[in-house]
Amino acid sequence: MHMEYKRIKMNSIVFALNVVATVVWCAPRRCEPGDEILGRCKASVEDKARCTDLLLGYCDDMPYVKTIFPNILDHKSMQDAELGTEYLLLSVIHSLLNGECTPDIRMLGCSVLAPRCEKDRLVKPCRSTCESVRKGCAHAFEGIEMAWPYFLDCDRFFVSDEEGCYDPLEGLREKQEVALASFYPEEPGTIIQFTYHSNAQMINILKKTAARCSDIARTYSIGRSTEGKDLLIIEFSNNPGQHELLEPEVKLIGNMHGNEVMGRELLIYLTQYLCSEYQLGNNRIQTLINTTRIHLFPSMNPDGYEMASSELEGNSDPDNEEVPRYNGWISGRANGQNIDLNRNFPDLTSIAYSRRRNKRYRSDHIPIPDSYWFGKVAPETYAVMKWIRSIPFVTSASLHGGDLVVSYPFDLSRHPLERKIFSPTPDEQVFKQLARTYADAHSTMANADTDRCGSSFASKGGIINGALWYSFPGGMSDFNYLHTNCFEITVELGCDKFPAEEELYMGWQQNKEALMSFIESAHRGIKGIVKDEDGNGIKGARISVRGIRHDITTAENGDYWRLLTPGIHILTASAPGYSKVMKKVQLPSRLQKAGRVDFVLMKSVLEPDVDDFSLPAMGTYDRFDPYNQFERYSMSDLGENGEERQEKPWWWAYFAQSGNSAPTWLLRNY
Ligand SMILES: [Zn+2]
Repeated sequence: MHMEYKRIKMNSIVFALNVVATVVWCAPRRCEPGDEILGRCKASVEDKARCTDLLLGYCDDMPYVKTIFPNILDHKSMQDAELGTEYLLLSVIHSLLNGECTPDIRMLGCSVLAPRCEKDRLVKPCRSTCESVRKGCAHAFEGIEMAWPYFLDCDRFFVSDEEGCYDPLEGLREKQEVALASFYPEEPGTIIQFTYHSNAQMINILKKTAARCSDIARTYSIGRSTEGKDLLIIEFSNNPGQHELLEPEVKLIGNMHGNEVMGRELLIYLTQYLCSEYQLGNNRIQTLINTTRIHLFPSMNPDGYEMASSELEGNSDPDNEEVPRYNGWISGRANGQNIDLNRNFPDLTSIAYSRRRNKRYRSDHIPIPDSYWFGKVAPETYAVMKWIRSIPFVTSASLHGGDLVVSYPFDLSRHPLERKIFSPTPDEQVFKQLARTYADAHSTMANADTDRCGSSFASKGGIINGALWYSFPGGMSDFNYLHTNCFEITVELGCDKFPAEEELYMGWQQNKEALMSFIESAHRGIKGIVKDEDGNGIKGARISVRGIRHDITTAENGDYWRLLTPGIHILTASAPGYSKVMKKVQLPSRLQKAGRVDFVLMKSVLEPDVDDFSLPAMGTYDRFDPYNQFERYSMSDLGENGEERQEKPWWWAYFAQSGNSAPTWLLRNY
């Protein structure tokens, strides 16, 4: 699908190039060498600049007829301007940007390349016009990985009203307002398109939504895939970009297996839904976003997705009866290096099992063994590990496909030889509650009469312990639980990994409430702050629950979240150098939000008690890729001269071959 799309694009560009050529041919006769001496014409360069007719083909509808050279970019003549990459870009910009930007951007460019001339003086265009076009179009450039063109730098080439600017879109104002209104409808209700989205379209929607809801959303990248695609996340919060004290953080991850695509689309729809409903004043959504920091990561494996979707495209050829329908069970599952990302995380579960007989052992914050870094670590895995270590996530759901069930850790069997054996974490009750939250709110997952893809999860209410289903090491959910404070479940969204497009809307209907309820469930259990006597938050303090051999640690400012089931719990807060504090709490069964339990710890000169010796030293925990192995492996991907092999966007070749010097200003981060 993607390749096809590129080809169409290039065709239209080739067509546009022909037009440019025509314009060049039709341009009026200019000074040839020797003409000047013969008195046939005068070189404009040496003359005092004068107003001249505006004859640039792509600028012939400007609201003025006279221009001047040198222009604002110091092109000495019209021919200079016409042969530059800037003009070439203007000629194709509208189709390059998929119509995502107002067509008037061309005229904005013309106002720089062929500026208005009055009384033989150049008049510069208005900065305010430039800024408003930029605001509406920035996302479109990002969508095709193109930098905002240097010659449309509003600060550099445009001036203010006071400096006597003119508005190059003046005559279009009314027309433009109508166009913009249809582009950015007044009412924030988005019409969600329940279709598949290519990687470029997905990125575009995320960025566009973040721009539309900039008060409550932003996008950020956690790295790049094997083939260089952005691993882009959209975050919703009333304070985007910041962790707020006591506010729980939740993540939803889709498309870890590139050929399991429903979750990816659900998160793209959820992005648009959250933004629109917040703006429409939906109470539930506003409360949720005001009290929770939500991170949506629609595609953890964009390379795999591209492979799966292109293969699907190839196999849907009706004339090709030889090939059975797309083999969605394998193609595109792994990443660009053929690594299954859900087997690529450090296997901390085996470590936890080997130490479980030690009574004082706690199954949390297990350091990544150094040996892990000597194996092959996928860039997607690396990016996700760094990400989940940097944010105090409370809950997470990883969205998959191929069955209809919610599974929860452990995914690795506690018996090395038995592949299907119940292998609970110390938090079995909490995980069951979390898994049920999703399954029960899903329209069919927990029903007995639902088509089960051949499995029998209905009797269990649509949830299952991962290892009891089938065991595997190196999974992401086990890693979340054993390395961080985050509780992650795995949601299998349906039997078909790559369902027909018509089924996407139904998928959204079935899962919308489940996704919402799951995000809300980060507000269960208890939360609070651990402080010292002076009221300062203590980072890295431990919250222990009697009977559960899994501690939670406090975040940067001493805040913590401990998911718990209803009932009576005995909690202990401890930190090195402080005395312990114990509290007994009762959680009512219908508590709607987390109970608040704060602790104040007194400084203590006593020797640490014996328990502390069994806790992993934080120094070891902080070790992340200590030998810089990841970078060393990536070095092998560098070009012969040691230069970074940077993947150029698909449109690059077109501009690079235009005969001008390579316009690196079109590349982002260059
Ligand atoms: Zn999967």
